[in-house]
Amino acid sequence: MRTVTGRTDHVVIVGAGLGGLATAMHLAGAGRRVTVVEREEFPGGRAGLLADGGYRFDTGPTVLTMPSLIEEAFAAVGESLPDWVSLTTLDPAYRAWYPDGSSLDVIADPHRMALEITRVCGAAEADGYLRFVDYARRLWKLERADFIERNFDSPRDLLTANLFRLAASGAFGRLQNVIDRYFKDPRTRRVFSFQAMYAGLAPHRALAIYAVIAYLDSVTGVYFPAGGIHSVPAAMAAAATKHGVDIHYGTTVTSVETRFGRAEAVITSTGSRIPADVVVLNPDLPAAHALLPGGRTPRPLRYSPSCVVLHVGSSSRYRKTAHHNIHFGRSWRRTFDEVIKRGELMSDPSLLVTNPTYTDPSLAPAGRETYYVLAPTPNLATGGSLPWQHGLATRYTDYLLDALEARGYLGFASGIEVLHTVTPATWAATGLAAGTPFAAAHTFRQTGPFRPGNLHPTLSNVVFVGSGTQPGVGVPMVLISGKLAAARITG
Ligand SMILES: Cc1cc2nc3c(=O)[nH]c(=O)nc-3n(C[C@H](O)[C@H](O)[C@H](O)COP(=O)(O)OP(=O)(O)OC[C@H]3O[C@@H](n4cnc5c(N)ncnc54)[C@H](O)[C@@H]3O)c2cc1C
Repeated sequence: MRTVTGRTDHVVIVGAGLGGLATAMHLAGAGRRVTVVEREEFPGGRAGLLADGGYRFDTGPTVLTMPSLIEEAFAAVGESLPDWVSLTTLDPAYRAWYPDGSSLDVIADPHRMALEITRVCGAAEADGYLRFVDYARRLWKLERADFIERNFDSPRDLLTANLFRLAASGAFGRLQNVIDRYFKDPRTRRVFSFQAMYAGLAPHRALAIYAVIAYLDSVTGVYFPAGGIHSVPAAMAAAATKHGVDIHYGTTVTSVETRFGRAEAVITSTGSRIPADVVVLNPDLPAAHALLPGGRTPRPLRYSPSCVVLHVGSSSRYRKTAHHNIHFGRSWRRTFDEVIKRGELMSDPSLLVTNPTYTDPSLAPAGRETYYVLAPTPNLATGGSLPWQHGLATRYTDYLLDALEARGYLGFASGIEVLHTVTPATWAATGLAAGTPFAAAHTFRQTGPFRPGNLHPTLSNVVFVGSGTQPGVGVPMVLISGKLAAARITG
């Protein structure tokens, strides 16, 4: 494995997102002196927090999987995750709602899930589900060590026995074909394939290797930390600080000073210069490159779709909902085409409605609820003509409130006490390329060793971390990217 060259005693990390924090913990555990420079007044980046009127809203991820990766970051500094964060397993992981009025609980226990599928879709479908679990579990085992949790120096590194095993199991075909092989009911087909959207793709375009995303949330489980997802980066930052990591909040890095092919320091907006043996860059990849000479990503990237999120503090409570609720519209392939290909808003929306106070009532004033409504939208590269800043944000909020009413959230609009709408224009204003918080899509050319690497091509002591680099998008992948970035420094 290639590593940075020269001294590695003092590492400066730009950004205290989950990627930057994971890197900091792994490096501090390996005895490096670590300084983190974060432009906001708090850690977490996209896993942020919005507090208003006694309500506390997670602004980013809500579906938390693979807590073992968070545990690893804590273990790196000799800490134990349960001493810092209290996790609840969500049961069900999701509740899926269909346009025919039926619902299906997604339970992270194959035996109980098979019973649930039998109840809703019949025994043959449950049998297909159990075979799918075996298939996806096998894929995960084949992919994890060789293709996800490792640093690649060249595409040749792909050539392992597991590559041939994956190819033989159809993992390089289309996800939709694999799903159709195991499932016949449109409801199970949707609930085990919509996760392709997390990778920025439609199921009929995504590679079958991404069946592992459905495996990770539907089979290995979804968790919720007391106090919300933001408690995870808050605890990581606190543990890192306890173990000597120096975090400067409210400090924007404006450039990286380089000389003779090496980074020598980071320069902040107040003009201060922080010398570094190694610089790790956690901002969204194009923003990270903008801090370096040249200022551009080495090649154009195709970005994932974006989303609108409504953060709602409400007096309304709905007994039929679970913590996570996915409301599928009638149309399916058309929805992906609209959002990803045509740059249009969904004409028949599929929505994620999360109700964090279902699990942790302390996130709202007594007797009140929080709702997080996520609607996929085009990013600003494909949907650049959508006038988010010229009235569309308000109109689309109203449209979504009507859609929620139609999906059974009766009186939703009248229960609202606090409402914040986040749009692709909001994401763009925070420096996220193409106005999407989901980085480069996981197309074949942007996956594994073909995704932008974590070592700078010419600066020998600059490392990238986060969702724009390998292995990719989402909390588990970003935590892994932190481990991989640290390994590039420690060897
Ligand atoms: C709405 C939404 C929903 C999501 N849902 C899920 C989900 O359910 N499950 C899941 O697993 N993932 C989800 N994700 C994705 C996941 O949150 C991200 O992939 C991950 O948090 C990205 O982490 P990161 O470390 O790469 O980047 P970031 O979190 O963006 O961290 C980068 C940090 O760098 C800082 N920074 C930037 N520029 C500078 C500068 N010049 N100087 C100093 N600091 C700087 C930023 O302030 C930030 O703190 C979601 C994201 C969003 C936004």
